[in-house]
Amino acid sequence: MVFISPQRTLLLFLTAGIFQTNAFPADGAPNSLLPTFTLLGGNGGSETGRCTGTDLENLKASYEDMCLMARSARDEIDFLTQQAALTEGDGPPKPADNAQVPVDNWKRWHRTRETYVSLFGADPFVKRGDPPGPKNPGDFIDGHKRFVRNFYDDVVNQYCGGAPAPDKSTLVCTDADFKFIQVGNVDPGDPQGRNIEVTNPQCTNIDGVWYSQNMPPGNQYDNRAPPRESGDGPVCDDPNHLAVVVRKWRAVFFCKDGLDTNVHKVVTIQDVRDKIKPASRRYKKLEDHEIVLQALTMGQLTRLDDVKRVGGEIMPVTWLHEMHHLLTRSTDEKAVDKTGNRIRITINEYNSATNQYEDHEADEKAYGYDLARDLALHNHVNAMVNPENVAFFGLAMFFSEFDWSRGFAMPLKEPK
Ligand SMILES: [Zn+2]
Repeated sequence: MVFISPQRTLLLFLTAGIFQTNAFPADGAPNSLLPTFTLLGGNGGSETGRCTGTDLENLKASYEDMCLMARSARDEIDFLTQQAALTEGDGPPKPADNAQVPVDNWKRWHRTRETYVSLFGADPFVKRGDPPGPKNPGDFIDGHKRFVRNFYDDVVNQYCGGAPAPDKSTLVCTDADFKFIQVGNVDPGDPQGRNIEVTNPQCTNIDGVWYSQNMPPGNQYDNRAPPRESGDGPVCDDPNHLAVVVRKWRAVFFCKDGLDTNVHKVVTIQDVRDKIKPASRRYKKLEDHEIVLQALTMGQLTRLDDVKRVGGEIMPVTWLHEMHHLLTRSTDEKAVDKTGNRIRITINEYNSATNQYEDHEADEKAYGYDLARDLALHNHVNAMVNPENVAFFGLAMFFSEFDWSRGFAMPLKEPK
């Protein structure tokens, strides 16, 4: 996950949220992060790569909220598809004015369904009137079940119950444990004290190799690009990176900015609930466009992107995004603009042919709510496997008292 580019982010600086750990995904488990992940060894302090102190407390607290988001998302999709199955895809009938329980079902159906469609581009069930096929109206569509619903379920079952993760995942705070050992120097991990180009002959391509003393055996050497500047690490190499998953190591790295509560201003989202500013009414789509834009600019409405109106990032959302990379081996999908065209940007990357960092054109990735929504609009198959779409849906389902189907908090739809 990267810090959204300045053009798309309104940066305001307020105090960071006080973290709470009052909701536990597993009964009786004080925290599900520590039993689940192996923490990188080392001697303490984020500068050494080990998660300790406030960094660790923030990661633990935000991880609990990530679990609650995943659970909410799974339960709401299950509600939606159960209701669809009961009604051949029509959803609960519009209730009579005084029938309380059906009203709640009806409102929940609309909130969940419309938000789902806005982030994944299509209903997860067969509708009446869909082209005929082996499935009947109301049936759960396999791809939605497999790629969306089951991801949340896997997070809850495999990563939130306080048991070791099935793949022994590692959590690392910054990549400061890695040092670039230049050709001509001794390999610090070699008991015979040979030079790095002897133990790692391939490293002459980039004039050295990355070495971490404390990563698990087998993951201590890496042939990534050499540091841009001295002091740079191999994983958090992009200054905008908050967190990075290295899949071959099954490791989640929280980068320096990702541990900084001036960037991740929202560590837990539960204490945010009463600060959300919803619209006073539901806006109609076209006529109210200008009014909505103005209200958003003035900070009178709370967007999914900045739930706390601080313009900072939300740590549990970053967690859920990274869990998607970790569990499903996803990559961030290429972004499209409002009309469906690819967005090209300039990035600075190492070119192994010239042994230099160089600017070149690349595709923008679908980060942030606006690009997640645009992706869903134009390529719903990619949206279903894009970590950002999955993370925002979890956030929207967590705050179930609001309708987030347009990207900001609105009152739930009422049957009228
Ligand atoms: Zn990502």
